[in-house]
Parts: sequence; structure tokens; C-alpha cells
Amino acid sequence: MPARVLNGIVIRDQIYAELTGEISALASAGIRPGLAAVLVGDDPASKVYVKNKIAACEKLGLASIQITPPATITTSELLAIIEDLNRRDDVDGILVQLPLPPQVDAKKILEAVDPAKDVDGFHPLNVGHLVAGRPTLVPCTPAGVMELLRRSSIPLEGAHAVVVGRSDIVGKPMALLLMHANATVTVCHSKTRDLPATVRRADLIVAAMGRPAMITPDYVRPGATVIDVGINRITDGGQAEKFFANFPERLAEFRAKGTALVGDVHPEIANVAGALTPVPGGVGPLTIAMLIRNAVKAARLRRGQRTPAAAAVQR
Ligand code: NDP
Repeated sequence: MPARVLNGIVIRDQIYAELTGEISALASAGIRPGLAAVLVGDDPASKVYVKNKIAACEKLGLASIQITPPATITTSELLAIIEDLNRRDDVDGILVQLPLPPQVDAKKILEAVDPAKDVDGFHPLNVGHLVAGRPTLVPCTPAGVMELLRRSSIPLEGAHAVVVGRSDIVGKPMALLLMHANATVTVCHSKTRDLPATVRRADLIVAAMGRPAMITPDYVRPGATVIDVGINRITDGGQAEKFFANFPERLAEFRAKGTALVGDVHPEIANVAGALTPVPGGVGPLTIAMLIRNAVKAARLRRGQRTPAAAAVQR
């Protein structure tokens, strides 16, 4: 039986509908959450990500500003921009699009963001709250995965979750959130011995390595839930033929466009997994929804408004 598809777009739209209610309640109280996006240089992928984030703000009625310093900016110049945004009362959330140019001390920049405005959840104070299981601003991609799992009624308590990838942005916070949800968590990385055997023991796999289609059916126990965080753009025809051999529509789309997005999970796992997220249309849309939710939460908290009970639960 083909796997159940966990559609991130449908879940994102449910979340947007809920947020719309919350945003209009805030508007009645004279509050319009504002998000500032700092986009350094002209990396094409970063530009697309920021454009999508700003578009989501506009769609939901948040105020947004974009600051676009040149790629030659220094650490101290960028720090001055962050300090200005920290002081501005109309800015509730600050996001600094990564990666930053090599001459900029990214750690210093992320630590300079006011923790109360840290909508990406990257500040060490917020990371500490996450580790301790206290309510906080949680990194958007893993928060989105938790939302997707919860709203799809995937059981986590007692489940064996294997997270492949240990980055600060995805793998580590993902593992913490799953642990707080009472899953038994294994974290794998590039030095893990016998990765396929380890992953095969999972009830739930979260793939976040940035390696196109690496998780093949032999990594997956039949019936497991597979969450594919990876977003990889492929342009190589040979790779496309290999990945989409049994997916004629995707192959035709690749041939028409000369490019396609694939996850870290091979499309063939649809024949083995119990449930899976597609790429595109799985985890990606939820990342932006969680960013908006964090901005709304930051606006409430900064203005001394209590978050609704549901939002106060760490997720
Ligand atoms: P990083 O490159 O920061 O981290 C990758 C992790 O995967 C590292 O921990 C690395 O191990 C591990 N890894 C790499 N190769 C292997 C391998 N062969 N076997 C086992 N582990 C491996 O990536 P990110 O966490 O930032 O992103 C991961 C993926 O998620 C990317 O495809 C990215 O595009 C995507 N992404 C998607 C988002 C979304 O909204 N859907 C948002 C953010 C990211 P080690 O630590 O040992 O080097």
C-alpha cells in the first residue's frame, strides 16, 4: 500500500487560518506585529527565502521591513543594524537570513539579536530554554515538523525517532522537541557507523542532511513515518532519471524545466513507509508558518499580552 502523504500545504493553511483570527484580535487591541528581515548580499536562494517570508507577512497582515546590506558589510556594521532593530518598537521579530558572508562573525550577530525578538530561536538564551523544556521561541523548521506530526496524529510517546543531521538549525532542536514529546531519540550524523541499520530501527525518521535522495528504501522499516526536511535543487539529468525512474510525471517536469527539487529521502520510499512528507509541499511551507507564529508570539509577549493557552505550550 502506498504511504499516506502528509501534506504540509493543507496544514499550513489551517495554521494560517488560526493565526488570522489571532492577528485580527491583536489589531483590535491596536497591535500590528512587525517582522524585520535582514538579507545580506545577493545569494539567490536566500533572496527567494526572504521574499517568501515577506510575502507571508503581507498575506497575514503583519508589518514587514527588509534590510539589504551589501555582501561586503563588516561584523560591526551589521551589529549596528541589529542594535537599531532591537531598539525599534515597531519591530517585534528580527530574522537574519543565513548564511552570512565569511568575513561576518555569524555567532556574534545571532547573539546580538534581542532574545525577545529572536523569531528564529537561534539566540543561546532561547536555545537554553528549549533544552530545559521551557516555553520559548523555537526554531521554525523543527517546530513545523512537530506541528505536522501532531496535526497528522502520528504517535510520538514511546516511539523510536531517528534524526539524521545534527545542525543547530534543524537536527539538534528537532531531537530536543521529540525528546520532550516522549519519543526515544537517536541522533545520527556523518560519522554514524552503519547508518542504514540504525535508521531501520526507527518508527519515525527525520532526514535533514542536505544529501539528495540519500535515504533509500533499505533504510526504512516498513510502515515507518518519514519526515523529509531536505531541500536540494538538482539539475543533473542522470540524477533525475535515477530518482524519478518510477515517477514519470516528475521526470517529465524535470525535462521541461531542467531542474527539480528533491528531498533527502528517495521518492521510492513511498512504497515502504507508512506515512511521508513530500518535497516540495511537506515541511517547507510549515517553516514559514512557524516564523509568522513566532512573530505573533513575540509581539504578544513584548507587549505583556498572554499567549493563547495553545501557543504557551512549547512546540
Ligand atoms: P547542515 O549542512 O547544517 O547539516 C547537515 C547535517 O547532516 C550535519 O549534521 C551532517 O553531519 C549530517 N550529514 C551530512 N551528510 C551526512 C551523511 N552522509 N550521513 C549522515 N549524516 C550526514 O544542514 P541543515 O541542517 O541546515 O539542513 C539540512 C537540510 O534541510 C538541507 O537540505 C536544507 O536545505 C534543508 N532545510 C530545509 C528547511 C525547510 O524549511 N524545509 C529549513 C532548513 C534546512 P556532521 O555534523 O557530522 O557534518
